[in-house]
Amino acid sequence: MVGVVVPGRHATHLCYDALYALQHRGQESAGMASAHDGQITVVKDNGLVSHVFTDATLRALVGSEAIGHTRYSTSGSANWTAAQPVFRSTPESMFALGHNGNLTNTHHLADVAGIQVTSMLSDSDLVAELVARSVSRGSSVEAALVEVLADVEGAYSMVVLDQSGTIYAVRDPHGFRPLCLGRFGSPEEPAGWMVASETPALDVVGASFVREVEPGEMVVLTPEGVRTRRIVAPELTTQGLCIFEFVYFARPDAYLMNRQVHSTRRRMGEFLASQSEVGADVVMGVPDSGIPAAEGFAKASGIPFGYGLVKNRYIGRTFISPDQNTRAASVRRKLNPLREAIEGQRLVVVDDSIVRGTTTRALVRMLKDAGALEVHLRISSPPFQWPCFFGIDTPTRDDLLAAHHTVSEMNEFIGSDSLEFLTLENLRRAVGVVDECCDACLTGRYPAPVPVEISAGARW
Ligand code: SF4
Repeated sequence: MVGVVVPGRHATHLCYDALYALQHRGQESAGMASAHDGQITVVKDNGLVSHVFTDATLRALVGSEAIGHTRYSTSGSANWTAAQPVFRSTPESMFALGHNGNLTNTHHLADVAGIQVTSMLSDSDLVAELVARSVSRGSSVEAALVEVLADVEGAYSMVVLDQSGTIYAVRDPHGFRPLCLGRFGSPEEPAGWMVASETPALDVVGASFVREVEPGEMVVLTPEGVRTRRIVAPELTTQGLCIFEFVYFARPDAYLMNRQVHSTRRRMGEFLASQSEVGADVVMGVPDSGIPAAEGFAKASGIPFGYGLVKNRYIGRTFISPDQNTRAASVRRKLNPLREAIEGQRLVVVDDSIVRGTTTRALVRMLKDAGALEVHLRISSPPFQWPCFFGIDTPTRDDLLAAHHTVSEMNEFIGSDSLEFLTLENLRRAVGVVDECCDACLTGRYPAPVPVEISAGARW
């Protein structure tokens, strides 16, 4: 998710490059909206950023202010109608909205507003509808957003563009999903402003990192500059960034909470190696996020690091594929073993997580078929035992292998020779936090209310 305001320049090419840098956050659909002459133009479709946008569509997106989004569905449909930015036009105003995260009280919000929840395409669509209704009652887009978000629960980092070219960037009171502010030009003479989910999106367009948007804060970007306001008082907010942003989700070159993600992953591997000894000939990581953890494991254990899996860069990430069939089939398409590095070897294989177990089992089988003598699986996060309601697609406990199996049963199911997980304490030490991150999927302690209807498995 990205928002760009660059007076006197075209925002959409910058937005496009930034979205490209954020492609890993969602691969189902991509979209952009730009403001020009009191109008908003939206282009969005299913597919990767490079497929959705052409020279022709980029030319249609005129303007110095633009927002963009790549989607990974955790609620609502995965088809193109749910692609973002979501657009609303009222007689008074128009706006486009992009949302990263997942809301947890959508049924309540819809009930109160008298909206059939099934008529909404997604939780983001519902927020847009509520904001549009508030605008129709006479509020500005900014006031409407503040009013609506006061009742919204769950995870949201959001960018909203109105027809005047103002961008509102807002983060929920727990800060589940990242959002940072960047600047074009120098501190003395800013030439524009930008918000993005991750810092590499700033790097790629030559913007400088300014700071993270705080939980419960709204940053307003206009051609005249930046201002900030609270949507929730600081004393009612907590630091609750998803710890899986460090383990898996974010790019390794991203900085979150002033920590480079790559170094935290290396430390996860180092701590993992320190937990127990294993006899092996080589340590290899499952690309991409398992690689730095494997490097750290190799360094701490003294076992040589090697590459044993080649990743097809053009296949989507299995973890964020929209359904089980897509996920299982994509393992073989995505990873191929380097036989000469594997044959006759005792392997330590470091991966970032085990969620459903199906992809890990397929991976171990593939390595053994390629001639590995032993596969000792090491996971750079603790067992994923509880569903996430804040932006990762694990809606029920039934899907989670660790929710119903001991480590030894998981080892048997997966077919590995041994299996060990990073402890929660060591994960926190690797990231450098005590309790400033959400780790509810590992502990069952949710920092925000979780609705019964969702935990029982209902989805919409
Ligand atoms: S429940 Fe887990 S995956 Fe979800 S936001 Fe919290 S740490 Fe991240």
